[in-house]
Amino acid sequence: MTTNKAEVEVAVPDIVPERAVGDVPRERHCLRCETGFWSEGFGERVCRRCKATNAWRNAVPVSPGASRHR
Ligand SMILES: [Zn+2]
Repeated sequence: MTTNKAEVEVAVPDIVPERAVGDVPRERHCLRCETGFWSEGFGERVCRRCKATNAWRNAVPVSPGASRHR
């Protein structure tokens, strides 16, 4: 009864994206959970599930000292 969803992986070898050979929809690996998902295009780097969390947006580097409370 150890059904870990995180253990579920796609039978896909460790392929390296060769500079995005065209902005075409294809299966990619989520940058967050590394789960194989269908990417609509080059801009799609995270699965819809992670996108729903909106947490990945917080990963955007902020200017040092920009959000600094006095
Ligand atoms: Zn994900």
